[in-house]
Amino acid sequence: MTLAFSDAHLHTNPIMGLGAEVVAKKFRKANGWFMAIVSLPPQHYGIEGLGFESHEKSIEILLREAEKARREGVEVSTLAGFHPSLVDAYFKAGWSPSEIVELAEKIIDYIAKLHDEKAVDGIGEVGRQHYAVNPAWIVTSELILIYAIEVARDNDMLIHLHLEQGGYSTVASIRRIAESAKIQAGSLLLHHVSPSEAHYAESYGYWYTVPAKEKLYRTLLPHKPERLMTESDFIDDPKRPGVSSYPWDIPRELISLVSEGIVSEEYLYRVEVENVSRFYRVKPP
Ligand SMILES: [Zn+2]
Ligand SMILES: [Zn+2]
Repeated sequence: MTLAFSDAHLHTNPIMGLGAEVVAKKFRKANGWFMAIVSLPPQHYGIEGLGFESHEKSIEILLREAEKARREGVEVSTLAGFHPSLVDAYFKAGWSPSEIVELAEKIIDYIAKLHDEKAVDGIGEVGRQHYAVNPAWIVTSELILIYAIEVARDNDMLIHLHLEQGGYSTVASIRRIAESAKIQAGSLLLHHVSPSEAHYAESYGYWYTVPAKEKLYRTLLPHKPERLMTESDFIDDPKRPGVSSYPWDIPRELISLVSEGIVSEEYLYRVEVENVSRFYRVKPP
């Protein structure tokens, strides 16, 4: 069996970092078959200024990045969103909560239109800050998260949630929101989870991604969880090298687990191919 590997949540940056062409080429070489590329906040791409146009430009970059990765022979899903860190940035720039929510909703509507045109696959990322900020900023982010879930439901879109690592409370609160919005559980993905959120996501039937950290994979994978996928959450920023892992860390970590007999190739096929193909609705390699 030849193992095929997937990165179910990463960012690429052709302005400041390697960009999708190089990343896809390197990932392909490591037997990578699938990448879900998620948009970065506009200023990460060097786009100046605030407001709708800067987000429009950043989504254009995302779509070009997806094309470049596809040309390297990798299957790609694309997600564009309004990261909670943007809520912080707009507050710091003096925007009011209603102005921020209005802008984010306009961007999410625009993403839904792009989905309608088959240019993007989903909304990502939206959610709540994972670090301490003014509580009003978290509530504002949550309003945007709720709106994004409703739009995802109405348009049958996938959605990546960026959340605090609060174990039960994190996942149970998302379940409350998701159930009252009546979105299908299968459209939601909780990204960058720790073992505690993974446990609750598993019991409530939500998909989730675990970053490529040796300790996390060694803790979680031997239990053969069903809804796990792997992510690098690569941010492709050479100025912040240690912030996330690299897409090719995924194959490296997983291959060492197989060679040590900690996980089986059959189980890895489920995680790396079957789960991805089910959640992202793409053909397996
Ligand atoms: Zn995130
Ligand atoms: Zn991310």
